[in-house]
Amino acid sequence: MTNPLLTDQPLPAFGAIEAAHVEPALRELLDANRAEIAALLDAGADGWETLVVPIERMHHRLARAWSPASHLNGVMNSEALRAAYNACLPLLTAYHTELGQNERLCAAYQRVADREGAALGTEQRKVVENALRDFRLAGVSLLPERKQRFGEVMARLATAQAKFDENVLDATHAYSRQVTDEREIEGLPANAVQRAREAAAAAGKDGWLLSLDAPTYQAVLSHAVSEPLRREFYEAWVTRASDRGPNAGQWDNGPLMAEILALRHEAANLVGFANFAEYSLATKMARDPAEVIEFLLELARVSKPAAEREFTELERFAGRPLASWDVGFFSERLRKERLQVSEEALRPYFPLPRVLAGLFTVVHRLYGVRIVANPSVETYHPDVRFFDVLDRDDTPRGGFFLDLYARPKKRGGAWMDECVGRIRLAGTSALPIAYLVCNFSPPAGERPSLLTHYEVLTLFHEFGHGLHHLLTRVNVPSVAGINGVPWDAVELPSQFMENFAWRDEVLPLVSSHVETGEALPHDMLARLQASRTFQAGMQTVRQLEFALFDFRLHAEYRPDRPPRIAETLAEVREAVSVLRPPEFNRFPHSFQHVFSGGYAAGYYSYKWAEVLSADAFGAFEEHGVFDPATAQRFLSAILERGGSRDAMDAFVEFRGRKPEIAPLLRQMGLAA
Ligand SMILES: [Zn+2]
Repeated sequence: MTNPLLTDQPLPAFGAIEAAHVEPALRELLDANRAEIAALLDAGADGWETLVVPIERMHHRLARAWSPASHLNGVMNSEALRAAYNACLPLLTAYHTELGQNERLCAAYQRVADREGAALGTEQRKVVENALRDFRLAGVSLLPERKQRFGEVMARLATAQAKFDENVLDATHAYSRQVTDEREIEGLPANAVQRAREAAAAAGKDGWLLSLDAPTYQAVLSHAVSEPLRREFYEAWVTRASDRGPNAGQWDNGPLMAEILALRHEAANLVGFANFAEYSLATKMARDPAEVIEFLLELARVSKPAAEREFTELERFAGRPLASWDVGFFSERLRKERLQVSEEALRPYFPLPRVLAGLFTVVHRLYGVRIVANPSVETYHPDVRFFDVLDRDDTPRGGFFLDLYARPKKRGGAWMDECVGRIRLAGTSALPIAYLVCNFSPPAGERPSLLTHYEVLTLFHEFGHGLHHLLTRVNVPSVAGINGVPWDAVELPSQFMENFAWRDEVLPLVSSHVETGEALPHDMLARLQASRTFQAGMQTVRQLEFALFDFRLHAEYRPDRPPRIAETLAEVREAVSVLRPPEFNRFPHSFQHVFSGGYAAGYYSYKWAEVLSADAFGAFEEHGVFDPATAQRFLSAILERGGSRDAMDAFVEFRGRKPEIAPLLRQMGLAA
């Protein structure tokens, strides 16, 4: 029997894939790759065609076999699939570590660079440069003891970070609050009340049981009229996994944070960097720590005065000084009074079929591609549809699976992922295929799914990532589409697309009242647009606080003293924040982005990419949002080029100059 994950068909055979296929397919491919790489090295392969091309093809094959398995684990989860997936993760990690530390392979790539470097094209040179960089970052050239130590540090780091996550998860789950007096939950939205009612019933308790999951926490902080309830929730939330709060000391991440910072610093030192911040920047668009800090402080200089004004205004509106647990609540009230726009009231104007058709029209007008449903393609769930992307002359350019509705066994959130990467190399060719996933509420009977404007933005955002993957013209998989794009630039195409969903020219294309067919009325549209800049200063300084804290913590680490976690946070707050949190606040102890996720010394990436995307969109504001020449330039300089060239060079080619902060400030209403 052939394993459906190992066929060469252009699209995954979803109907035939079972959990039992996953691990055997992966093992077979990893073994085959290992044998093939060893054979190449034994044969002395050290040219672009003889070494790099075969390796690119191997990794394309591995990625396209693994992608459906990992995707199904995320969107059609089952016990069997999860077990298969988890069994494969260590195999993949071991394979990549082994490859990264393979000295013979690294030396062979080095010979490609030395002998053919000058003759290689831009995208080929980039592939070789990236490979050599990644060998260095994996500690390939270290002496045996240091290499071994590097491996131990990375393995321990993985365990410590996983433990950090578990502590946050356990601490979050450990807290709940029973409410028996209905007056105590006054103000909470109906869906939050309903969830709490069901949770109480499930636990065999009276009344309502409020848990500490993010939606409930947000609902309480934004809507609960009871100040004591808000304070209680705030304290439970900001003391999770720490030495304070309702479960003080039980899952304290304090010692792990110190260990994680020490391990990162040591790993960075071992491979030749002064600290982990420099190590992090080795694969990013920002050049050095000074540039990142200066960037964040420049944003702070402009946004802090605005944040101070907004905060004063909020306190005046509330009629009293505000504590940390009051801000969300009074902001929500002020927003309602000031803007008279609610997400719920907008829903009937954004039926999903209309939004999708409008989005496809926007993409067609910008880049000339047509997006056409293809019902003949087999998907993995009846809700999932497949679309072809066709060029102006109807040549296929790629395609995507669109999976938009929430359902059980599907991971929350929204994302774009690669199903098949584009490749065109010596006998192997494939067009790019994407997965676009959201979690909108499903249609109810005849009535289509109705989106909030926030959800419309989400769809545009993910579609921006999708276009980056689908419209690439790069033929070498490791730098095609989103591959090889620096972390701090990868959100450029996605945030860029969001801008369209705020525009006068676009909102009528994506809105049509579900009953009357009327486009979003002008006054609602204006109020919606005004809401974009509501409390922009306060939102910005909050992000800057996170970004500066993260970056300074890694850049200023010194092995001869304990890490200055609380001190650094206090200094950053002094510099940029408008609100002083209470003494018991232990927010770093649950800051997963930085202590256990991929954003260590990289949280600034959010703002960095926002500057790029706002500035890029500025070109469209100057020439017209559908200006063909501007769109063509964005397509050829950014979208089609993927990671095949330096991100700054690509931006400069599009914009004619380096990125500027002013367009983002204008967009946020923060310009002087
Ligand atoms: Zn994104």
